[in-house]
Amino acid sequence: MTNRISHRIDGKAWAGVPERSGEVFDPATGSVQSSVDFASISEVAEAVSAASRALPAWRNASLAARTRVLFAFRELLSARKGELAKIITSEHGKVESDAAGEIARAIENVEYACGAAQMLKGGYSESASTGIDVYSMLQPLGVVGVISPFNFPAMVPLWFVPNAIACGNTVVLKPSEKDPSAANFIADLFAEAGLPSGVLNVLHGDKVAVDGLLEHPDVKAISFVGSTPIARYVYRTGTANGKRVQALGGAKNHMVVLPDADLDLAADAAVSAGFGSAGERCMAVSVVVAVDPIGDELVAKIADRISRLRVGDGSRPSSEMGPLVTAAHHQRVTSYVDAGLSSGASLVVDGRGIAVDGAAEGFWLGPTLFDHVRPEMSIYTDEIFGPVLSVARVPGYEEALALVNRNPYGNGTAIYTGDGGAARRFQHEVEVGMVGVNVPIPVPVGYYSFGGWKDSLFGDTHAYGPEGFHFFTRTKVVTSRWLDPSHGGVNLGFPRND
Ligand code: NAD
Repeated sequence: MTNRISHRIDGKAWAGVPERSGEVFDPATGSVQSSVDFASISEVAEAVSAASRALPAWRNASLAARTRVLFAFRELLSARKGELAKIITSEHGKVESDAAGEIARAIENVEYACGAAQMLKGGYSESASTGIDVYSMLQPLGVVGVISPFNFPAMVPLWFVPNAIACGNTVVLKPSEKDPSAANFIADLFAEAGLPSGVLNVLHGDKVAVDGLLEHPDVKAISFVGSTPIARYVYRTGTANGKRVQALGGAKNHMVVLPDADLDLAADAAVSAGFGSAGERCMAVSVVVAVDPIGDELVAKIADRISRLRVGDGSRPSSEMGPLVTAAHHQRVTSYVDAGLSSGASLVVDGRGIAVDGAAEGFWLGPTLFDHVRPEMSIYTDEIFGPVLSVARVPGYEEALALVNRNPYGNGTAIYTGDGGAARRFQHEVEVGMVGVNVPIPVPVGYYSFGGWKDSLFGDTHAYGPEGFHFFTRTKVVTSRWLDPSHGGVNLGFPRND
């Protein structure tokens, strides 16, 4: 092992000796490629203290100065996106074209943050009362923590960091320990773009680092993305410690296919959204709900497309789907294939043991398709987060809608149909935060906001876009009167608007 990955605190690579560290794999070869330092409580304190020291100057920096850094960062990120894509592929495993897609969506969020001057305008009411003007201003919260998952090591940090710093906050980012290098690359680019030291700090580690941020009195807010049990824990612990928290959790996304849909388009979408990034996307389609009588035909079309997918090392341009992120995750996902079989689902395509274009020791699982999946089976109830797609069959639209709405998750969903009335009814009735109409992965553009419902999000504010600016600011309202002798005199009555 040659490479050591460490924190970025106060604009510098951390020079200390870690008490603990973790292994970072190359999922395509199964080998350990780096060690990553795990922060102890004292490194958490160091990072928060650097962010606190940087705060006064950064919150007072002009909007022009703050957005100039964001514009410069956007240019650097665009120029060096190829390097970042390779870093993502080497630690996460996703194919490079997919990593490039992640970066493109990240850039959207940087571009949105470049509009901070527009977003941070307050309101002004002249003569709210006689001689009194009232106006509002949006101010930063202070030091904020961002805690991100392994599956989008660049995009998810960039859902939050640009908006947070545009608003005048300073940040401690705790990326996933499974693929930590993208966060360091981003922090280094921000430094090159002119971001002052300490405004963005990267702290690597696990639960110890997360708990340290959740309990630190100087951290005012937490933006978290990860699995539902941890999201719930982060929300409860963070709010119990008096912080503002948005905690985005896991998902089980249903794609409803009505009998009038174009089944070739629906099958293309199910395969793309089910197996892209090996199913390790919170917006992946994991359940196709086939409304009678199209089940047999749709399953045959999906299976046919799967047989032509090329699985291999993500750095090879011919690969369409890469390996899973770690051996432990591979084992967990594979155990669901066994569970699906023993619970009586029909295994239409078995991805275990498929031939791949890559090293035998990689964490491979080919695309897997189950049919006749029932709601009580664990392959339906659990978020598998791998290339395992289930098809559930229902007799009609009402049963399809009921299935989606009964599910505890509510991140994304899609409907495939040629009937505008049915689609309109579905978008109105479905209890899910992000809906696609003939669009399988409806990740909102950067000028809307991203967030699921129910167990897919804890807190009341979605990520990025207008709600991101709302999350990272607090409003102050000023009621002002300039001296006017006609309003002198004592008055104990409650202030009225006259
Ligand atoms: P995870 O919950 O294991 O980890 C997320 C973060 O929490 C990481 O930084 C990790 O270090 C930290 N963490 C892990 N265990 C912890 C603990 N016990 N206490 C405190 N912190 C802990 O998630 P993951 O496996 O990295 O990512 C995949 C999950 O994220 C999936 O469930 C996926 O659906 C979800 N996700 C959701 C969204 C969304 O927008 N809703 C987006 C991407 C991923």
